[in-house]
Amino acid sequence: MSRRNRITPNWFDGVAAHYTLLFPLVKDKALCCNRTPNQLRNHLVLAERGGNWYTPPMQTKPLFIVISAPSGCGKSTLCDMLLQHYNDLSYSVSCTTREPRGMEEDGVDYHFHTLERFRELIDENAFLEYAEVHGNFYGTLKAPIAEDLASGLSIVMDIDVQGAAKVREHVKALPASDPMRDGFVDIFIMPPSMEELRRRLEGRSTDAPEVIERRLENAEGEIARADEFMFKVVNDELSVAFKRICDILDVKSGRM
Ligand code: ADP
Ligand code: 5GP
Repeated sequence: MSRRNRITPNWFDGVAAHYTLLFPLVKDKALCCNRTPNQLRNHLVLAERGGNWYTPPMQTKPLFIVISAPSGCGKSTLCDMLLQHYNDLSYSVSCTTREPRGMEEDGVDYHFHTLERFRELIDENAFLEYAEVHGNFYGTLKAPIAEDLASGLSIVMDIDVQGAAKVREHVKALPASDPMRDGFVDIFIMPPSMEELRRRLEGRSTDAPEVIERRLENAEGEIARADEFMFKVVNDELSVAFKRICDILDVKSGRM
């Protein structure tokens, strides 16, 4: 399931009526909207355990997963695949001051904010971490992460190396028994080569040439920090990289 496939108010009004016969909680529009179907399923499972329509997810340790890499290495592609593969995984939607591109949707791919609003959120201490990346601000909100972890979901974040370092520091300071620390995994995605990285950034056709140049210049410094991460995965053949990440997560969560 793509993280773009969140339940929208239109979807709710259109087809949810069918499900209300099976699950009374689906009537609650506020509960359903802006969740992925899998997140909704988890919420319903937790709320209505014992019902015979949904199968509860396997009892595994919730993970707090950080995926990091230079722009164009395939983080979004791999995160989307992970979200389709694991039904107990929630995507951490970051805030950003950059403009939406292509099909990106506010509240789904990012929360798009003005610089002024972003600064207010900093002042409100709303961020677990934030950083300036390629000339724009990006930040991870604390509240949704706490909410998802509390409901037993694993979380995956797509953030840059500066943000990953801040999250790592935060996690290290927590007690060993804290679920965020216990389930912490950080993975750095490597490009097969700088030539291939350029091809992917150009092939994506979402960024202006000067933006691509800036991202490629920054990539060298980001790759130099790959050793800070628990795991490094080269995204050459997509299916191989995906399998490697799944193996890491399955071992960490106790599925394997
Ligand atoms: P990021 O989120 O790290 O910026 P994307 O997931 O947007 O990167 O990937 C950049 C481009 O590279 C996209 O067009 C994507 O389809 C493509 N891509 C991702 N992984 C691979 C791969 N293993 N082989 C070839 N192309 C890939
Ligand atoms: P893009 O503009 O291509 O979506 O993202 C640019 C970079 O910002 C990527 O390296 C991405 O991982 C990073 N990024 C996205 N969200 C966050 C966030 O919340 N915090 C930090 N530190 N980086 C982020």
